[in-house]
Amino acid sequence: MEPEKIFFECQRCGYCCQGQTTVSLDPADVDRLVAHLGMPVAEVMEKYLRCTKGVIQMKITNGHCIFYDQGCTVHPGRPWRCAQWPLHPSMLIDQANFLAIKGSCPGLARGIGYEEFHGLLAALLGQPGAVGKRG
Ligand code: SF4
Ligand code: SF4
Repeated sequence: MEPEKIFFECQRCGYCCQGQTTVSLDPADVDRLVAHLGMPVAEVMEKYLRCTKGVIQMKITNGHCIFYDQGCTVHPGRPWRCAQWPLHPSMLIDQANFLAIKGSCPGLARGIGYEEFHGLLAALLGQPGAVGKRG
């Protein structure tokens, strides 16, 4: 079992793929997506991405990422920020942030509290504060 599955397993609810913006893509994300789709980069940019003030994001359709259709349709080629979510260093900042994200993400273990979560995620990310248990 992957270590994070002790406290997180994506339920593919799609909540984090909704909204009027998406995560931003860095050059490696664009390369990965282009390779996954097997299309010329110009076509990928035209069909699926938007660039605003130098920031590349995925287009939005019907209030969600253009690649969302009852789950991520480009899962192996998704941006690193999508792959990391919600196990992000910002979750270590404070309890309020943790509670807000836990409230919106059913993939996080329902019974887990901030202190335990902090220790587990810090261990996973190799950061200070790794005091919690790991499987
Ligand atoms: S909100 Fe959480 S459970 Fe739902 S798709 Fe996103 S990561 Fe998965
Ligand atoms: S690329 Fe996939 S995981 Fe990322 S926002 Fe779009 S549908 Fe969701």
